[in-house]
Amino acid sequence: MSDPTPDRNPPIKYKQIFINNEWHNSVSGKVFPVINPCNGEKICDIQEGDKADVDKAVVAARAAFKANAPWRTMDASKRGKLINKFCDLLERDLSYVANLETLDNGKPFLDAVDDVRATVDFFRYFAGWCDKITGKTIPVDGDYMTFTRHEPVGVCAQIIPWNYPVAMLSWKWAPALACGCTVILKPAEQTPLSALYCGALIKEAGFPPGVVNIVPGYGPTAGAALSEHMDVDKIAFTGSTEVGKLIMQAAGRSNLKRVSLELGGKSPLVIFADCDLDMAAMWAHGAIMNNHGQNCCAGSRTFVQDSIYDQFVEKARTMSEMRQVGDPYDAMTQQGPQIDEAQFEKILGLIESGKKEGAKLEFGGARVGEKGYFIQPTVFSNVTDNMRIAREEIFGPVQSIIKFKDMDEVVERANNTSYGLAAGVITSDIDKAMTFAQRVQAGSVWINCYDIVTPQTPFGGFKQSGHGREVGEYALKEYTEIKTITIKVPKKNS
Ligand code: ADP
Repeated sequence: MSDPTPDRNPPIKYKQIFINNEWHNSVSGKVFPVINPCNGEKICDIQEGDKADVDKAVVAARAAFKANAPWRTMDASKRGKLINKFCDLLERDLSYVANLETLDNGKPFLDAVDDVRATVDFFRYFAGWCDKITGKTIPVDGDYMTFTRHEPVGVCAQIIPWNYPVAMLSWKWAPALACGCTVILKPAEQTPLSALYCGALIKEAGFPPGVVNIVPGYGPTAGAALSEHMDVDKIAFTGSTEVGKLIMQAAGRSNLKRVSLELGGKSPLVIFADCDLDMAAMWAHGAIMNNHGQNCCAGSRTFVQDSIYDQFVEKARTMSEMRQVGDPYDAMTQQGPQIDEAQFEKILGLIESGKKEGAKLEFGGARVGEKGYFIQPTVFSNVTDNMRIAREEIFGPVQSIIKFKDMDEVVERANNTSYGLAAGVITSDIDKAMTFAQRVQAGSVWINCYDIVTPQTPFGGFKQSGHGREVGEYALKEYTEIKTITIKVPKKNS
């Protein structure tokens, strides 16, 4: 494995559309710029995929999914070996891929290294599943025997966001490939670099042509073409709730393709007075500040019990004051820039709304430096449930600290949101922890910790945070159809 070494100028080897294990220019001839969020400057141009390129990719993915195609006739265990081979290559090039990730995403290089390591773990977990996806035998009435096969759902379109580019790719590709599907990935327009390099590794690993295809481009064009396509069997999407709704509508309008959605959140982290206060402040800080607050399950509503509220706010402020913001290649840096100008402006706008609506700005609230999209880790106290900063997904480093009195009240307020992705509770009382965990409407609940997501843990949302589950064994359901096969057998009494 390569030693992780920061490199501000990694060579960009792949800038084209990846279809059938080959690199293509866009049919339209268009390209789009990828921007470095540290300084707002262009890194390079990438071929811009559009409807015509999506059509080409779907033809390739469909051909690779034919019943007699190599990918379909391959032993399931061989699929696992190919995924593991891909992981070996990713480990070989870990440093390079992490550098691509930092370059277009802006996250600290050491965080990017962790993300690539996690990516390998996610792929290896699903590599192990390939030959363990089994059906059932069913004791049916009459002279018949029935069994089920869990078959791959088919050609899968996968649209991912920019916050964890390579890790999100693994959440999409790994279960789909384990189940024997073929895929077309649309990376986020802000962060296509690591995904395109992974295309090259797919080819090098020996996957048959057409099994994995990558169409970089914009959401309303390439993304919409995938959602509306009549020959795509399933679409998996991670991103905003707003776009998730468009994707479901497009699926309904077109061919009723299967849909799984991992969307936004406004997740509560509830801190009871009996907690270890330092530990609570540490988890709450990480829950909202990690990855610059650009995390769908960020603990973005910090509920703190009234008797420890002031002490907690003090600690939260100190932690944000100490947070190192700046050059992502510096090993001491904890926070780089926000992803782009649009997000940067949106976050600063929400910070202004917090001030106007009467929250108390304890720390931060402004940009850092003159270039790029850096924002101070920001802490608000005296936040009330009706404020925009308590209701809207900010997707930035803004902690909103809200006061509560007791369990019944906090559960009701925690659930008073259209989202339901995640929640956390910090307490030394197991009864309180379990009461909260059972009552809160959220797909993941963390007790005395936060944002612990591993290859084995299913992840997804209640309510408008999405449909379906990613990762863990449950993810296999999203990429398989169940086929029921019934055989006439000799009469039971003969
Ligand atoms: P974010 O606000 O995090 O950027 P988005 O939901 O806008 O979230 O984007 C996530 C992904 O969805 C990106 O790959 C983006 O290009 C894609 N996307 C955006 N709009 C659409 C759309 N109308 N149809 C399909 N995909 C889209």
